[in-house]
Amino acid sequence: MEKPAYRVLLYYLYTDIEAPEEKAQEHLEYCKSIGLKGRILIASEGINGTVSGTYEQTEQYMNDMKADPMFQDIIFKIDEADKHAFKKMHVRPRQEIVTLRLNDEDVDPRKTTGNYLSPKEWYEKMQDPNTIVLDARNKYEFDLGHFDGAVRPDIDYFRELPEWVDNNRELLEGKEIMTYCTGGIRCEKFSGWLVEKGFDNVNHLEGGIVSYGKDEEVKGKLWNGQCYVFDERISVPINQEEHVIVGRDHFTGEPCERYINCANPDCNKQILTSEENEAFYLGGCTHECRVHPRNRYVETRRMTDEEFETQLKKIDEYESAFQK
Ligand SMILES: [Zn+2]
Repeated sequence: MEKPAYRVLLYYLYTDIEAPEEKAQEHLEYCKSIGLKGRILIASEGINGTVSGTYEQTEQYMNDMKADPMFQDIIFKIDEADKHAFKKMHVRPRQEIVTLRLNDEDVDPRKTTGNYLSPKEWYEKMQDPNTIVLDARNKYEFDLGHFDGAVRPDIDYFRELPEWVDNNRELLEGKEIMTYCTGGIRCEKFSGWLVEKGFDNVNHLEGGIVSYGKDEEVKGKLWNGQCYVFDERISVPINQEEHVIVGRDHFTGEPCERYINCANPDCNKQILTSEENEAFYLGGCTHECRVHPRNRYVETRRMTDEEFETQLKKIDEYESAFQK
């Protein structure tokens, strides 16, 4: 098999790290020295990273990490790529590698967590009517793709999930809970939180959606859409057998899997939309965002005031015709 030019590595490990600040500085220098790019967080509870590099660079990184007793248990999820997925290399010290409960004592997955399910176990259990599949990610991630029949918590940040559960307890009570996230780091902590809250039948998908998509037996089945990722690729495919588009265009509701950021820099909301609709709506998610004085869509295309006004009029005409 031919070696890919580049690879993207996604990984995390909950483990004790002493002096995370020093470790972060040292790790940054090391990553730069081998030419990797990406984003890594280091905290006393562990490490969480996505990095990209050439085949040789990523190979060296994985070998070096596996030779380090602190990191030898890391499982790397490897994607082939034709270029870097990041522009720079960052390694940042943090209080936690993922934040579930701000200003409160956090759950420690090294001590408490739910049952780990392999992709095959997950696939089988999902089809049991007594289970509930709960997405542990944010709504914009869910909207691009999710497990068939999964529940979508209406949250913008992971730390909002506990409150959502408190408000929706009746959905989960009496059910066997199955929770999942991109690579496993969030659901591992979240399932521990659920256990602490008294839910007794809690499971999470080991290695997350990304490992599920790579599993040779289940081949990503029962996943619909794409999986949102936090690098320049924005999304990766999961279901190897069929591709059901679940994303919907923000403006028209048509099937769509293309994410943009709202052109209003103060809004910056991620919306799914086609190139055509982005152009028609001047990149703004609402009228207020379109007319924002620093609308990036308008700025980068150097639109004249006249062009801008004409387009606003077209939108207005179209929308009033649509409402009738
Ligand atoms: Zn907006």
